[in-house]
Amino acid sequence: MKRYRGIFFDWDGTAVISRRAAADEAAAAMKGLLAGGVKLAIVSGTTYENIAGGRLAEYFTKEELGNLYLGLGRGAYNYRFEDGKPAVFADRLPDKEGMLRIHDAAYGIHRELLSAYGLKTDVIFCRPNYCKIDMMAGSDRGGRLFMQESEIESLKAILNAHGIKGGLGELLAIARNVGKKHGIAIKATCDAKYLEAGISDKSDNADVILEEMERQFHIKGEECCFWGDEFVGLEAGIYGSDSFMITEKTKKGDFYDVSEVKGERPEEVVQVGGGVSHFLSFLKEQQVVCI
Ligand SMILES: [Mg+2]
Repeated sequence: MKRYRGIFFDWDGTAVISRRAAADEAAAAMKGLLAGGVKLAIVSGTTYENIAGGRLAEYFTKEELGNLYLGLGRGAYNYRFEDGKPAVFADRLPDKEGMLRIHDAAYGIHRELLSAYGLKTDVIFCRPNYCKIDMMAGSDRGGRLFMQESEIESLKAILNAHGIKGGLGELLAIARNVGKKHGIAIKATCDAKYLEAGISDKSDNADVILEEMERQFHIKGEECCFWGDEFVGLEAGIYGSDSFMITEKTKKGDFYDVSEVKGERPEEVVQVGGGVSHFLSFLKEQQVVCI
């Protein structure tokens, strides 16, 4: 098996079944690799507090933490550990005026969807550099945070019923156009339940952390792999949030999808399936290779 110097991975649905699940198993699988000097990078849309209840660092020694990175908040924050403490080493945070422009744009998207298409949404404003627009305010994922196949179809049906015949592509275009009116180049993504509109995405995390690994340890994209559970195409040419880890900088790496969901994926991605347990076995196998 190929030995990787850098392993990037999504958290919810890839390393843990759900945000509320214990992180013990994931941490145990990570520990040996970190001790052996392999760089691990968690790339997730969530916050530090939502990874292992904000207590991830407690699983590891200071030395192990020196090899761990977190790219969080959909590109907003990049952490490394300094003396065992999480420290943001690069961020994409707007100033107050910039944040208000993002909020105006998010409300503008809500307003456009309601006024032109009669489509009701909820907006969640309280995020570092983006807003979440709930496209299925009445629907529930049963506490699980990963994508389920039927949700994409439900969203497409909702869009179609409201006259957005171009599906998710048209929805993302609406978001970007509203952004333009507010002077922002909106980076919009959609995981079926939420349309997220802001100024960064997982591509910023992947690039910034890989650059940092390159700068400090001369690690190259082709020495890294990238794991997630949301690569699948939501429709032709529009892929899930983990596909944003594929960038000009990272694309020489290997990309693996643990999801069982059928559908098209970016050409770089190998669908290995097997969910969280497949990813954790991979980490353990890498550790064996490492020793
Ligand atoms: Mg996920």
